[in-house]
Amino acid sequence: MKRLSILGLFVVVALAACSPKTGDMLGDAPEPAFDQKPIETAIDLTNVNEDRLLVQLDPGMFSQDTVLFRLPRVVQGTYAISDFGTFAEGFKAYSYTGAEMNVAKTDSNTWTIPNAQNLDRIEYYVNDTFDIEGTDKATPFSPSGTNISDDVFVLNLHGFVGYFEGREDRSYQIDVTSPLGMNYSSALAQLSADTTGQSVSITYQADRYFDVTDNPMMYGNLTQERFEAGGIEIVFSVYSPSGNHTASQYRDVVYEMMQAQSEYIGELATTDRYDIFLYLSTQQQDAQGFGALEHQTSTVMTYPDVVNQAMLSEALVDVVAHEFFHIITPLSVHSEDVHYFDYNDPTFSKHLWMYEGLTEYFASHFQVYEGLQDRQAFYDKMVGKIQTAAGLDDEMSFTVMSENVIDEPYASNYYNVYMKGALINMCLDIIMREQSEGQRSMMSLMHELSEKYGKDKPFEDDAIMDEITAMTYPEIGDFLQTHVAGTTPIDYQVYFNKVGLSMEEVETPVTVFFRDQQTPFINVNQETGELYFMDSGLNTTLIELGVEPGDIIKSVNGTELSIRNAQAILAPSFQWTPDMDLSMTLIRDGEEVEVSGKVGEPKAMSPKLIEMEDATEEQIQLRNWWLGENTSEQ
Ligand SMILES: [Zn+2]
Repeated sequence: MKRLSILGLFVVVALAACSPKTGDMLGDAPEPAFDQKPIETAIDLTNVNEDRLLVQLDPGMFSQDTVLFRLPRVVQGTYAISDFGTFAEGFKAYSYTGAEMNVAKTDSNTWTIPNAQNLDRIEYYVNDTFDIEGTDKATPFSPSGTNISDDVFVLNLHGFVGYFEGREDRSYQIDVTSPLGMNYSSALAQLSADTTGQSVSITYQADRYFDVTDNPMMYGNLTQERFEAGGIEIVFSVYSPSGNHTASQYRDVVYEMMQAQSEYIGELATTDRYDIFLYLSTQQQDAQGFGALEHQTSTVMTYPDVVNQAMLSEALVDVVAHEFFHIITPLSVHSEDVHYFDYNDPTFSKHLWMYEGLTEYFASHFQVYEGLQDRQAFYDKMVGKIQTAAGLDDEMSFTVMSENVIDEPYASNYYNVYMKGALINMCLDIIMREQSEGQRSMMSLMHELSEKYGKDKPFEDDAIMDEITAMTYPEIGDFLQTHVAGTTPIDYQVYFNKVGLSMEEVETPVTVFFRDQQTPFINVNQETGELYFMDSGLNTTLIELGVEPGDIIKSVNGTELSIRNAQAILAPSFQWTPDMDLSMTLIRDGEEVEVSGKVGEPKAMSPKLIEMEDATEEQIQLRNWWLGENTSEQ
């Protein structure tokens, strides 16, 4: 942090006294007023400095005495603290005479610039976030993070380009200079492109700071596919460090998914173009958080490079579909907290059950409804969510959690938005279809809400549940009050019974460490970081090896296991064959225990949703309304 010295203050005051301030003096001024020109921003990818990029910003002339310049503390859609200001260093501000001005860094993300009438331009270096993931420094969730390397640049622009406090409405012109021939994509409107020698500079336009944060770019050694699906131009860019994954391998999967999503969404306007940026990580000083972040016309997804094509295909559909459905909520239907988002000190809406829960439900449901997946696969996915949700606080009000999501104990239950949040909407969808005799659904409700509101008109956070109740049925209102705002756990069997399904325990094939792709047999002790086998049942292989519930896993096949390398060590087990050897060192009651044997063909007792043989016509009818005719078994 830099403090103002007496001498520095004197110099700055003296300069301020002779700088033009009034309108009629602007003719001599070196620059138009702040309101009169976009903030000119430049990032040069051809000039990486110690793994950092230099960012330069040239705003118009300020009329106020002091301005605050900030990088975001929180970015939209992440529900966690990112502190992008802690990745910037060497911050310098220059006056119109070219002198370096005094600046104070007043908190992790804010630089205070006095005598702002003199401020000509600022510059600073930005370090990337992917490199240090897994170290002790807290890092932004990877899909919102940044990467700088010779091979690839992940330009989540909110990690590079800041804003002047209170002036988030100003437009930006962003110049990105890159080596000639480097692949890239950005959903931002391109104003011009200039080639000089071996580099090319593209000037992009962002109407306000929101558009800076909402339009990521990727430059580098990418494979790309561009095609039309469901009336949308898809630009699909893939970075794979091994070169094992290319955009063309996944073109058909993405095409089929986007086509089906368009069908499912129906007439709701979405976007003309959609960019999918897929970054695959080596997991060595590289992205460690996997998933994606939504934007109005794009998504950035991070995933391990080590996975095979089948796993990546499945993940792409689950994850990218989720992000695309975010176009409906919160990007279109949202409250004031989302609409007037404060990047430094945000307030949070009560309605993550809708923003994340409904979105996650749509991303699962459209696959069965549009016939991409059979019904049993959908049932299995919902049961998996019930099982994972059982490990989280089932008596926590979803609205209270949502409003306080960056604080404990709510933050560590955030993951439930994808589990119980989706199940809440599954129940609501069944109620909607039951009450309307198949005429209405959660999707049709979202059509009504987006007509009433939409991306330029937020709803009132405290009023929306009553409003939804008034628009629908008392049963919807009761459910929202009891299980979403209230703390009463949901009895899922009540809703499954309406559609003629029952939950039964059956023996199912599993893998050694996972019941399915999302549900491990292993849990993490939040306090110690140790990984241990869960109490909720083991599989036949683990039982034969002599594993007991609660055993802490010290090493797997000779490699020490920690929370940092767990993904890298455990994920390959999906590809293990029955004849492979497996040995583990466990800790039980403080003593080390060695176990070893073959991987075998593990099975476990797992709950399964079964279609009732004696289901009534009414139950079958509601099931067909709910899951669609594409997979009906009539
Ligand atoms: Zn989401």
